[in-house]
Amino acid sequence: MEWLWESICAAVESFSGQSNKRNSQFYVRLKEVVGAYLARFAQDCGSFDGRERELIADLCQEVTVEGPSRDIVLLSLNSWARDDKAFGELLQVAQASREFRVRFLVLAWRVAARDHSITDIERGWIYRFNEAAGGAEEDFLLACIPYDRSECDSDRNLAQASELLGVAHGATPDQIKQRFRELSVEYHPDHHASAAPALRKLAARELAKLSEARDLLLNGAEITWYCKFPAVSSLSVATERAIVECFLCGQKCRLPHKPNFSTVRCPKCQALLLFNQEIGNVVLEFVNIQPAKVISGEGKSWVRWALDKATRSEIPSAALRDLASLPDGLGPGEAEKAVQEILRRHGVSTNPK
Ligand SMILES: [Zn+2]
Repeated sequence: MEWLWESICAAVESFSGQSNKRNSQFYVRLKEVVGAYLARFAQDCGSFDGRERELIADLCQEVTVEGPSRDIVLLSLNSWARDDKAFGELLQVAQASREFRVRFLVLAWRVAARDHSITDIERGWIYRFNEAAGGAEEDFLLACIPYDRSECDSDRNLAQASELLGVAHGATPDQIKQRFRELSVEYHPDHHASAAPALRKLAARELAKLSEARDLLLNGAEITWYCKFPAVSSLSVATERAIVECFLCGQKCRLPHKPNFSTVRCPKCQALLLFNQEIGNVVLEFVNIQPAKVISGEGKSWVRWALDKATRSEIPSAALRDLASLPDGLGPGEAEKAVQEILRRHGVSTNPK
């Protein structure tokens, strides 16, 4: 199940009232437009290689249950990619629905990360899409977290600066200035007039470092998302050849021999593998879904049945959201009971066959 696509469809439904028409012209067209936009994106940002083509075709394939064959999707990508009208339509949907916008951003990052590197052109392209669709800067940054560590790396400096000054992540400018004043008294060479020259030199150097940290924090204070997610730059503890689970799609993957883990991606969804759970939760909450988790327990057949039903628009997206929040590892009896309870609450028939 392509969970991201399913959630995109749910977002579109909540915005357009198109439920029970998953196979309608609207969805076929939406699929083509999104696919074409991603194809244009991949083409504009360098070589449009076979892997990207395949990824986009796969994504498009998942949108409709009885959709056209992959060949037809590819043909439509080629024709839609030349049609600016399609992009106008896509922007319209994205402007009207934040849910859709957010999930499209994640999808675009995924295509960008397909070749394991993210270029400035790709970054700029996604940024402009978000801007044109009326998205907030924070949405752009959050959507990039699973795929682009460079945005996070720049904030590692901020973390170090906070540590050096001894202020909390997200301290206010006043707190930063106050703390610097206190420390500068301590380290100012004038206060160590009688000390040995080597010690005075050391104090001066320390003061310069503190003043640099203060400037960085004061100028970087606009990057509020860092303050909200201070753990963004920390990796989980990992060892060579360890099996890890992708925090985004649940795929299990083996880490390589080389110690360069920070660039290892999930083969299925291209997310960077090593983020700690805290960041994973922020991202999943951001895209508003909990993939894979709910269908891994013993009661998975029941939950899967309900999710399948949900993706065919036979139950509302609000119910889907409740289903997705079911705890992991429910036994068959518990799962049946929990699913039926949710469906009843949303006024859906609970006979699975
Ligand atoms: Zn993954």
